[in-house]
Amino acid sequence: MTHIASLFLKLNRLSFLLIVFFLINVCLLGKTQAENSKQTQNLEQVQKLKQAQSKEAYNPTANVTPSIYVTAYPDHIVAIEGNFLIWKDGSKMPIKNLVKLETFKEALDNPDLYRQLIIPYTPGPLKNPPTEDSDPGRIRYVPFFQKMYGGTQEEVRKNLVEVEWLPRTFKGVSAVKLLVTQVNDVSDKIKKISAELDDLVQKKPHYKKYLKNPGGTFSWRLIAGTDRPSSHSFGMTIDINVAHSHYWLWDYKKAHGLSLETELKESSISDKNVPAYKNDIPWDIVAIFEKHHFIWGGKWFHYDTMHFEYRPELYRKDTN
Ligand SMILES: [Zn+2]
Repeated sequence: MTHIASLFLKLNRLSFLLIVFFLINVCLLGKTQAENSKQTQNLEQVQKLKQAQSKEAYNPTANVTPSIYVTAYPDHIVAIEGNFLIWKDGSKMPIKNLVKLETFKEALDNPDLYRQLIIPYTPGPLKNPPTEDSDPGRIRYVPFFQKMYGGTQEEVRKNLVEVEWLPRTFKGVSAVKLLVTQVNDVSDKIKKISAELDDLVQKKPHYKKYLKNPGGTFSWRLIAGTDRPSSHSFGMTIDINVAHSHYWLWDYKKAHGLSLETELKESSISDKNVPAYKNDIPWDIVAIFEKHHFIWGGKWFHYDTMHFEYRPELYRKDTN
């Protein structure tokens, strides 16, 4: 009898140990599964972020639709024929040049009509700071803009008219007149933008500070630190108040103890040395410009938050 009882006790102890062992394993397995699913989630997030970034960054073999030039500039471009843009006056302009390029920086210095479309401009509130190379609109094929807006300072000036800037807000001695081009109805669009901003300031008077003393419109010049003409040369660009804006090159110079007048080549500053993104311009202001197909420099990695430029070709067809 004693023998049977001791055997029973041993068996019980053994099954107790087995149960404990089993439970430990179940816990460990559960933990590993939880860790695995967390890792999978993290991986998915990284992949999604990479996909979102690669959509914006420069891809030299991206599929673009040059026919957007016909819809974006109906007063000038009538058709696409093969590799050529056909202008209303019958002249042809090549879309893709034959130089093989791989990087965004090479494309900035060797632009063509194809490369100009590669980085799409995404309308709507900015969700994240722009990633490296994501400067939609900074690749400009200059002969295209010269043919539309004027090839010399005198030619551009012939198309400029004065537009009153927010006439309800800035009147009397504080009235401001902007010099903008009539080409592509830019002056009419600026009038509409101005009226909508006037309405906005009536509702939100604290926005007045961003819009008073605009930094300028027409200016026949090169982009600071480059040999590339500024879009201000064509009269379809406006800078709002510099005092409440951020510009990457000024921030870089300030961070390095340099005066703003210091000559510095943009190409000498690598992407990793571009200052961290900054912006104070309220989205409500940007939204009004976007409605009229102006792009905002606040969506550039090389940020320029005062800068708005009429670039309808960068708005995809579905947003037109
Ligand atoms: Zn500007």
